[in-house]
Amino acid sequence: MKDLLGGKGANLAEMTNLGLPVPPGFTITTEACRVYLASGAEPPELRDEVTEHLETLEKKMGKRLGQPDNPLLVSVRSGAKFSMPGMMDTVLNIGLNDQSVHGLAAQSGGDERFAWDSYRRLIQMFGKTVLGVPGERFEEALEEAKRVKGTESDLGLDAQDFRKLVDTYKHIVREHTGREFPQDPREQMDLAIRAVFDSWNGERARLYRRQERIPHDLGTAVNVVAMVFGNMGMDSGTGVAFTRDPSSGRQGVYGDYLQNAQGEDVVAGVRNTVPLQELEKIDKKSYDELLRIMEVLENHYRDLCDIEFTIERGKLWMLQTRVGKRTAAAAFCIATQLVDQGLIDMDEALKRVNGVQLAQLMFPRFDENAVAAGKAKRIARGIAASPGAAVGKAVFDQDTAVKWSQSGEKVILIRRETNPDDLNGMIAAEGILTSRGGKTSHAAVVARGMGKTCVCGAEELDVDVKLRRMTAPGGIVVEEGDVISIDGTTGQVYLGEVPVVPSPVVEYFEGRLDPRDAGADELVRAVDRIMKHADAKRRLRVRANADTPEDSARARRFGAEGIGLCRTEHMFLGERRKHVERLILADTDAEREEALAALLPLQRQDFIGIFEAMDGLPVTIRLLDPPLHEFLPDLTELSVRVAVAEARGEKNEDDLRLLQAVRRLHEQNPMLGLRGVRLGLVVPGLFIMQVRAIAEAAAERRKVGGDPRAEIMIPLVGAVQELEIIREESERVLAEVARETGIELDALIGTMIELPRAALTAGQIAECAQFFSFGTNDLTQTTWGFSRDDVEAAFFSTYLEKGIFGVSPFEALDRDGVGRLIRIAAEEGRAARPDLKLGVCGEHGGDPESVHFFHEVGLDYVSCSPFRVPVARLEAGRAAVAGEGSDSR
Ligand code: PEP
Ligand code: MG
Repeated sequence: MKDLLGGKGANLAEMTNLGLPVPPGFTITTEACRVYLASGAEPPELRDEVTEHLETLEKKMGKRLGQPDNPLLVSVRSGAKFSMPGMMDTVLNIGLNDQSVHGLAAQSGGDERFAWDSYRRLIQMFGKTVLGVPGERFEEALEEAKRVKGTESDLGLDAQDFRKLVDTYKHIVREHTGREFPQDPREQMDLAIRAVFDSWNGERARLYRRQERIPHDLGTAVNVVAMVFGNMGMDSGTGVAFTRDPSSGRQGVYGDYLQNAQGEDVVAGVRNTVPLQELEKIDKKSYDELLRIMEVLENHYRDLCDIEFTIERGKLWMLQTRVGKRTAAAAFCIATQLVDQGLIDMDEALKRVNGVQLAQLMFPRFDENAVAAGKAKRIARGIAASPGAAVGKAVFDQDTAVKWSQSGEKVILIRRETNPDDLNGMIAAEGILTSRGGKTSHAAVVARGMGKTCVCGAEELDVDVKLRRMTAPGGIVVEEGDVISIDGTTGQVYLGEVPVVPSPVVEYFEGRLDPRDAGADELVRAVDRIMKHADAKRRLRVRANADTPEDSARARRFGAEGIGLCRTEHMFLGERRKHVERLILADTDAEREEALAALLPLQRQDFIGIFEAMDGLPVTIRLLDPPLHEFLPDLTELSVRVAVAEARGEKNEDDLRLLQAVRRLHEQNPMLGLRGVRLGLVVPGLFIMQVRAIAEAAAERRKVGGDPRAEIMIPLVGAVQELEIIREESERVLAEVARETGIELDALIGTMIELPRAALTAGQIAECAQFFSFGTNDLTQTTWGFSRDDVEAAFFSTYLEKGIFGVSPFEALDRDGVGRLIRIAAEEGRAARPDLKLGVCGEHGGDPESVHFFHEVGLDYVSCSPFRVPVARLEAGRAAVAGEGSDSR
């Protein structure tokens, strides 16, 4: 139904069918809009159909559209299939003109002020959205009227003032469009309908759709509904209601009410609303009816609903309802509450939550008790751009951020907005706060990429970078060095340090909180139930990316069923770097072998610990991938050191040799240079040493009764020949170790698919590989032809703003490009080797949307960072229960 009637129209129709008091009206379908958009004209039969439905409406209401003595007034509102908040147009009070304004005054018991105010609102909205008059022209005129009257608020204007304003507004329309404001009510309606159609292609709407990936050809429906007025006196009013608490899920009466007002007054904050409970005292009859309707809606939609309603002279009208937004915690609680009420089953409960919400619940949070106890003061609220809770000293420029953090201070970087020049400061900071920009601003994009807490667009804050201070509402000044706390999950900004408490959901995953304990709250119990259901349903296995025994153990506690990527390069840092240096500088075989021999036992020990932590589960170990110069000193620093030594007449032979090596290995574009399998082919002995360490570690574990399951993974393969050589060498080493230890090892040998060529020749590669693991980080870089480090900070925010992509392809898998390569490789790989194991170990393995794709293409597992494991488990379960054609938007 939503396809044809849009979200709003479908819900209005459903409420009407349920017998609820909805003002009568009709909906023009999205189909009519599509014809209009394609041909540039309304479908020929539209006019007659509108006439017919308008007549029915007029009959029902007992008055005609714009009838001079007793006018029917209507609203004309857009309503697409997917909600596009604030993106499209609405015109209220259609049907008012120079005559019917008097009729409206008579209808309202002689309330002239109300009638003229309604008329000027029509000209203003119609002028702006239908006739294209700049909105400021009307706003200025309204301001001027208030100034002349000496009043601050439009409540200070009387009927006469509004009457004059109507004249001024008409003048503005004439001046701007060269025509009169249309007096014919039907003409007003037809033009408004067309304007709603046109608004589908407005610039804002197009951009929104591009970012949200809503197809451009859906079109919008148009709802024409009889006006009801909440501003007809104290027995009238308007309000919003939720069928349960959107922040906790508890059932009850939640909402706000404003007497003698219209919806837009609530939004504009003209007066303070009262809690919905007060309506019981103000108008018991309407209140009771509202409660009854709320129950009907909950049972019908089987979910939390939010509602907009109006009371016109003691008569309750439902203006809109929809399944309401909620916090992450409420989503889990509500889902299980509804199961317990028998309204939904566990599959449905699983569909009602998602991995983004679960991830939010896993961040440490600020201690609300401390805030309540006045330990910190809330000073502003911005956009929650990247979740987490960060505390630190305020700094306003990148140099200070870097300097202070190097001396051990925690800092929050505050800017009006950030740009690529701020990158080092962002890296140094605990969190980032900006006063401008939205969810796709530079600060937001880069912070999310780094997993760093960020609040952006906190417009109440006046940031003065030159004076190194910011001013919050109420004249609160935050100077450089003052401690602030920012909450990237809610967007709140606090002055002072708010204590951080661990997330109970993480405590639960860690096994420190038993959901059956009396101390466990409803949220933990809800998460536990839903996770168990996801695990029972999912087909995808979930592994972790981990390179230490500690990380492996944690991943296992979080539910990982093995390791999908152990990056061995992390094991060559610190103290061990000097052995790598020796390996690189070796002039003779003997020197090289000595360096490798020093590394071997260390590597073996690494693997023993990991095999132990993951006993009985597969562990995929990737042979060395990054270019060797990453293990050598920085070229510039070393050059300076050598130059300074030379100037002093001191020559350090070792440094000189090192510098030569660094120069030799320096690469313009290391991402595409001497790395991955290429290293294994040109540095004799390197991969052999690693394979031996794996085999010996596995043998050791076997000796003590362990059950190691090694999988050896070769990175960055582009041609099967590369893999063949390394595989042969590896098999030889495995056989050698088996002979030496007397223990047979059945390690698998496979490859990463990280290059388009590998994906396109997957059939050949599969002949030689027992498994594929898609390295979607590199595959994204190599498919798009951009290197992540260079592009994210440089131009991704521009790309997102221009809607070239809705999310960074490093966050959510690019299905059309990278995804297509994965599909080809999976199909052709399996065709060549039916038992080929398929997995993914790029960051997308823990991204909710991407997990659904990996389920669809039939991978065996996803692998992601330990912290993301629960998210992947949940999404894998959701992917399994999601019916065909379902849409979670
Ligand atoms: C990848 O490329 O997706 C991958 C997992 O490897 P890395 O991120 O270490 O390059
Ligand atoms: Mg890679």
